[in-house]
Amino acid sequence: MEIKKIGVVGAGTMGNGIAQVAAVIGCDVVMRDIDMKFVNNGLSSIEKFLAKSVSKGKMTEADKSAILGRIKGTDQMRDLADVDFVIEAVIEDMDLKKNVFAELDQTCRPEIILSTNSSSMSITEISKATKRPEKVVGMHFFNPAPLMRLVEVIRGFFTDDETVQTTAALAKKMGKETVEVKIDSPGFIVNRLMIPHMLEAIQMFQEGVASKEDIDKAVKLGLNYPMGPFELMDLTGVDICDFVAQYFAQELNKELKWNRPTLLKNMIKAGRLGRKTKGGWYEY
Ligand code: NAD
Repeated sequence: MEIKKIGVVGAGTMGNGIAQVAAVIGCDVVMRDIDMKFVNNGLSSIEKFLAKSVSKGKMTEADKSAILGRIKGTDQMRDLADVDFVIEAVIEDMDLKKNVFAELDQTCRPEIILSTNSSSMSITEISKATKRPEKVVGMHFFNPAPLMRLVEVIRGFFTDDETVQTTAALAKKMGKETVEVKIDSPGFIVNRLMIPHMLEAIQMFQEGVASKEDIDKAVKLGLNYPMGPFELMDLTGVDICDFVAQYFAQELNKELKWNRPTLLKNMIKAGRLGRKTKGGWYEY
């Protein structure tokens, strides 16, 4: 089956980026959020991104209008009834994801694949909320989705080969490189490595070992990473780091490496979540 129309659930940071990527390759997109306010924010983020591409000469005004014309925003689940593939990008909460998948299962045609952009959660557990667990798969994009080249394709316990192959092929069509995560395990590849790195950076800062600026500088120049851990947390959301660390402690083991430093907990309490709140470890 050719994938011509893609449903994206969630119009936040990841949802709108993924919707854009899908529309750029010529697919029609239905982007759903719970309130038109969030849908319209998502649409205006896409518009801004594309306007920058036009001003840099990467696309024409006509390309931009055509891409935007392929994206329909909605707050109604029923508008996803005729899509050929779904990518879910609601907030990282297992109960919410299960509810969304149960609803998608009832709304969408039984033969289509339902994928999740979860950063860390069990694909197997999510798949059990549906009557098609063999067609549920992880399709993990990175932030910002239009620019980052990797997609992790994660096999749940029940996911069949065709689902893995179709998902990887779609990611490649979107211009992405893929890796296959063969066993459904928390954090997959990238985040399982990234979270201890972030937590240790906060711990070092809290102990006074170095300033956050110097920790970022050391990682960039000494490890040749494009961003330091504090800059990266501000981009991905300080709260995402906090959620995922708690989830790893619960699911993987209780090792010290998953301990959340007091300073991280205080950042969450203070609402300093990063760029999305105009302030995190740094001001924006
Ligand atoms: P976000 O908070 O920016 O957006 C989530 C959106 O989901 C919100 O607009 C919210 O209103 C919407 N939503 C909540 N319930 C919904 C429902 N029932 N139906 C439709 N929409 C609903 O979050 P985000 O950063 O875009 O993260 C989304 C997912 O992507 C999470 O699972 C996260 O772990 C994952 N992810 C995030 C990043 C990142 O760097 N931010 C990277 C990769 C993956």
